[in-house]
Amino acid sequence: MKKYIYFFEEGSIKMKNLLGGKGAGLAEMTRIGLPVPPGFTITTEACIDFFRNGNRFPEGLEEQVIEAMKKLEEKTGKRFGDKNNPLLVSVRSGAPVSMPGMMDTILNVGLNDETVEGLAKLTNNPRFAYDSYRRLIQMFGDIVDGIDRRLFEEEIEKIKREEGVESDAEISLEGIKKLVGRFKEIYKRETGRDFPQEPKEQLFRAIKRVFESWNNERAIKYRRIKGIPDDMGTAVNVQMMVFGNFGWDSATGVAFTRNPATGEKELYGEYLPNAQGEDVVAGIRTPKPISELKNDIPEAYKQLVEVAEKLERHFRDMQDIEFTIERGKLYMLQTRTGQRTPRAAVKIAVDMVREGIITKEEAIMRIDPNQFEKLFHRQIDPKVKMDLKPIAKGLPASPGAAVGKVVFKSDEAEVLGANGEKIILVRPETTPEDVGGMAAAQGILTSRGGMTSHAAVVARGMGKPAVVGAEAIRIDLEKELFEVNGVIVRKGDIITIDGGDGTVYVGEVPLVEPEMTDEIRTLLQWADEIRDLGVRANAELPNDVRKAREFGAEGIGLARTEHMFLGEDRVQIVRQMILAKTKEERTEALEKLIPLQKGEFKEILEIMDGYKVIIRLLDPPLHEFLPNYEELLEKYYKLKYGGGSEEEIKEVEELINVLRRIRDANPMMGFRVCRLGIVIPEIYDAQAKAAIEAAAELIREGKNPKLAIMIPGVSIANELKDIRERILRIKEEIEKKYNMEIPLEIGTMIEIPRACITADEVAKYADFFSFGTNDLTQMTFGMSRDDAERSFIDAYIRKGILEFNPFQSLDDKGVAELMKIAIEKGKKTNPKLEVGICGEHGGDPRSIKICYKLGLDYVSASPYRVPIARLAAAQATIENKLKAEK
Ligand code: PEP
Ligand code: MG
Repeated sequence: MKKYIYFFEEGSIKMKNLLGGKGAGLAEMTRIGLPVPPGFTITTEACIDFFRNGNRFPEGLEEQVIEAMKKLEEKTGKRFGDKNNPLLVSVRSGAPVSMPGMMDTILNVGLNDETVEGLAKLTNNPRFAYDSYRRLIQMFGDIVDGIDRRLFEEEIEKIKREEGVESDAEISLEGIKKLVGRFKEIYKRETGRDFPQEPKEQLFRAIKRVFESWNNERAIKYRRIKGIPDDMGTAVNVQMMVFGNFGWDSATGVAFTRNPATGEKELYGEYLPNAQGEDVVAGIRTPKPISELKNDIPEAYKQLVEVAEKLERHFRDMQDIEFTIERGKLYMLQTRTGQRTPRAAVKIAVDMVREGIITKEEAIMRIDPNQFEKLFHRQIDPKVKMDLKPIAKGLPASPGAAVGKVVFKSDEAEVLGANGEKIILVRPETTPEDVGGMAAAQGILTSRGGMTSHAAVVARGMGKPAVVGAEAIRIDLEKELFEVNGVIVRKGDIITIDGGDGTVYVGEVPLVEPEMTDEIRTLLQWADEIRDLGVRANAELPNDVRKAREFGAEGIGLARTEHMFLGEDRVQIVRQMILAKTKEERTEALEKLIPLQKGEFKEILEIMDGYKVIIRLLDPPLHEFLPNYEELLEKYYKLKYGGGSEEEIKEVEELINVLRRIRDANPMMGFRVCRLGIVIPEIYDAQAKAAIEAAAELIREGKNPKLAIMIPGVSIANELKDIRERILRIKEEIEKKYNMEIPLEIGTMIEIPRACITADEVAKYADFFSFGTNDLTQMTFGMSRDDAERSFIDAYIRKGILEFNPFQSLDDKGVAELMKIAIEKGKKTNPKLEVGICGEHGGDPRSIKICYKLGLDYVSASPYRVPIARLAAAQATIENKLKAEK
């Protein structure tokens, strides 16, 4: 016969699947000698067999329960149903994974008209005995027989009115006895039967009901949401009752062994004197903070502190416990690992290393990198967040929260921002022209675009909160307002956005500041000691580069030079260059641009002195620096038919003609990346010259710049060969001019599948590869990332065609396979080849772990994700070591 029952002393924490979380916790606490009321667990297997058997007890279970009850009677010296010394039990659910409040519990099983009298005499406390009885009828009626619980509650209210008292605890003995009578009447009226007087019947029906609660609607829904399998089943714990409602030296409570909000080492929780568990849950009375227990029941408080300490040392983590105090004596009813805020998680992990409870490696493995990220951004005050109702929801493009006045125009945002106004830039989508406005804003909200749209990428780089693609928002740029679900928000109105979850709120919501605590610093220092995967940053604006260095970046993995072409003054020069009709005109424009670029390159190299800085030459199609074609057309017609001057019309006309000529049919695969560098060599040459001269000047100043130049979008080895040769010639010239040797690496982005497949040829001309997985993902899937995220990725995930968005987290089956081929082939012809990643995936913890397995030398992430990358890189190293040890 199957063994369906385990007494607590037979089990252990390792038996969670069979005994459920609660049962295994009770077993483990019993095993290490903590005060746990005696009892046993009916296994999850019994529950599974119960369902297999058509919702009837499987063979042998009933006998085993009877046998176990006998043993429990021996242990406790009480008898089930005995009118002089009755044994009472609780019947509680407990699944292998926590499903808080989803399933059922019944207390005081074993009370009836006779045993209640016995209990009254035995305890010399008839009020307590009758109160326990009325609770049983109420709970049993509600849970086992499905009687509307309001019927019972109404009676309690009525009695209180009759007696003229405020709280349940003040109802007289007579009143309680009346309640028992009325509850029994309700029971009979609603079920057509008397309340069961036979304790065994109560017990068996309670067990059956707990099994069944595994399949109640809310439990099923909860499992769907949490991805918990339906076939686990729940265990049932039958345990001798201890009473927190015995009198004022009794209590019931819940506590965390450390503060779950801050991580502070202190007992944290609450208790109710003279009460039973469901009073706490029902919120009828206001519980007291645990610190007051010290004065109320000092002896029990002392026991609780000792038990908490012992539990933490034993489970090696912060615990969430339930306890009852019966006449001054502490009993433990539950222990489990406690939930905590990201801030508390870090503090607890670091403190526990310092206390000698866990190792540094364990501390690092305990922090969820996605939670960790929250620590580096402003947040909506968690105390108010739950009660807020967003007006719209978009994609959580860049974490952090921001409050400000709505502004729709970037130039206006720049002016207001410069005046110290806090603003939120709201645009349908952003273009390079908006970068100044974005920089001046507290946060960005767009109604179009995906997680890798311009707004999302630039905002992440700047560490600015952004919500993008909030499609319910209808923006009217003319009237300077937006409308969403009937709410109208005008220019100047205040809104709050939360880039961590994509929510938007009307009005000002209180925020809390991030703090770089001693514990965060320490944890990251340990991560650095452990990891063997480098971490660099994607940054080019000096402020961002500085931030990246502060956050621990070991160099720049990607400086996107096109960002340096932005800002009102520069866009004009860049336009002049694009619109140039002759080579001379173009060179003239470039000559103006180069000193500006050189200055910035110098600044970056200086901030990252001694660390490698990879400067990527121009990447996007040129038309991105020109006004939007459709908007120009509109402007043209307005001027033409609205009385514009001839000069104005001509200027717009010219721009339109240029755009017609250079506008790509398919910009992502058009005239961009190294193709620009080959067809219009002046641009790349000028950029290379600026970068190498910047290095030369720094060397002259006694600095140690480590310059690397990166060519984007190579698909044919000869593209790289051509540009590399030109850059080397420029380097030689500058070396002659400055009379020095300038260390320089030249490499390429690998972002086109053909480059992966032919990596052995490409590597002949490359000192390094850096995987541009943004482009590589869109080229591999053949899906333009903006279009995909706007139109169909969500549907793909909903329908289960994709498990996750491959633009956010690396596609291990396709893209990573191509990377693997590229690395193998590349290293074959160039064994010294350095390999890294600079696509958005470089800051995604799951992707970082894949990069580690691929053998990459480093990952590069936006500055604010550098700490997350350091942590995830250390986790990858540790996981790998653990696997090797196995
Ligand atoms: C990439 O394609 O992964 C990349 C980093 O380049 P960008 O995002 O600038 O195209
Ligand atoms: Mg790219």
